[in-house]
Amino acid sequence: MPHTERRRFSLGLKLRNPWHPRWLPASLRDTLSNRHHSHDFNCARSEYLRSRLVFVASAFFLLVPLWFLVDLLLLPRGHTLELLIGRSLLMLSLAFVLYRLLRSRQNLNRVRNLLAATLLLPLIFYAALAWAIGPSLGSLAGYNFIPLLLVAFISVFPLTLIEGFGVGFAVCLLEAFVLYHLGELTSIAGLQEIWLLGTVLCISLWANHSQVSALMRLYRQASMDSLTGLLNRGVLLEQLDDLQIQRQEALSEGRAAPPVCLLMFDLDRFKKINDSYGHSIGDHVLQEFASILRKEVRKSDLVARYGGEEFMAVLPGATKEAATQIAERILQGCAHADIHAHDGQPVPFTTSIGITQLRDQESLDSALQRVDQRLYAAKHQGRNCFIDAD
Ligand code: GH3
Ligand code: MG
Ligand code: MG
Repeated sequence: MPHTERRRFSLGLKLRNPWHPRWLPASLRDTLSNRHHSHDFNCARSEYLRSRLVFVASAFFLLVPLWFLVDLLLLPRGHTLELLIGRSLLMLSLAFVLYRLLRSRQNLNRVRNLLAATLLLPLIFYAALAWAIGPSLGSLAGYNFIPLLLVAFISVFPLTLIEGFGVGFAVCLLEAFVLYHLGELTSIAGLQEIWLLGTVLCISLWANHSQVSALMRLYRQASMDSLTGLLNRGVLLEQLDDLQIQRQEALSEGRAAPPVCLLMFDLDRFKKINDSYGHSIGDHVLQEFASILRKEVRKSDLVARYGGEEFMAVLPGATKEAATQIAERILQGCAHADIHAHDGQPVPFTTSIGITQLRDQESLDSALQRVDQRLYAAKHQGRNCFIDAD
């Protein structure tokens, strides 16, 4: 991959084509849009959105008939039929939303559409009433409170800023339409209403931003190995699976699939290092090895701690020749590493490496098995070397 295409791989973000406008602060880049979120993070976020939306949509569904009792008590007669029809339609629509929600696991797009529907349906009900009842709607108990309530509800969800703004803007637009219809849009009261909605929307967006950043932070912590700061095995395998799927898609569309190389490492006689110098020095060796790996691969590559003293690097876009050069440099990096025991004596360490390239139409398991076999062939060959062929 040419140098200009090098991109930092960040957990929770897409491996390929992450969208990184450099002029934005890093925290805003994470929360502005989901265009650059990884599939895995999108699935995690859609589950958060879904569980909260089930609660909110159920609360709306129960409130709609209860509020009708308030209408009966407080409203002048004459609008009962419109209200009854409006509320029945709203309940039916919310029931449909709930039904779809319960059947939409890990489908971010659908959950987002249902969220927009849940927040916009009560507003459409309000707008339809304004159209049917006219200026006297303003005197109906609690009705002009609906848009404000809906904009405040945006803050409950971990939405990206673009998603939150989209829903909030739609609410403001519908409210402007209602105010226009009631002839109040340019009055002081109307302008104050829009101003208030805008202010509450800003607060909701700030809450959205905090929620998505917290979720991203948690996701990163759960995906990282705490000793070395590398990816953990589960995330690496998921990302590798994504890569293989992208390759298969490219092949099935008749496009060339870019090469992907795997390097598997196992530190040599590591048990002896622990036994001779203690576990804390063993941990230092693991950290030093992780930093050698990070230094020698490109920022767009994936590096993970695969097990105790086993590591894996995935090099998208790298040929086998490039992978063997990287393996050479890693062996050299270990040879020149500067780790000392508590008494000051140097602690040398080496690694054995298996290398393979993903083959078209093969399963991930078979590639992992091959790279594992080559790693153990390197062990049998005397350690401190790499093997890149059967
Ligand atoms: P080989 O060259 O055949 O790989 O020999 P080895 O001694 O490296 O292999 P073995 O699998 O027997 O030993 C791995 C050791 O790694 C055993 C375990 O105590 C140690 N280990 C695993 N995780 C950690 C860790 O987080 N910290 C430290 N200090 N040691 C660890
Ligand atoms: Mg081992
Ligand atoms: Mg070992």
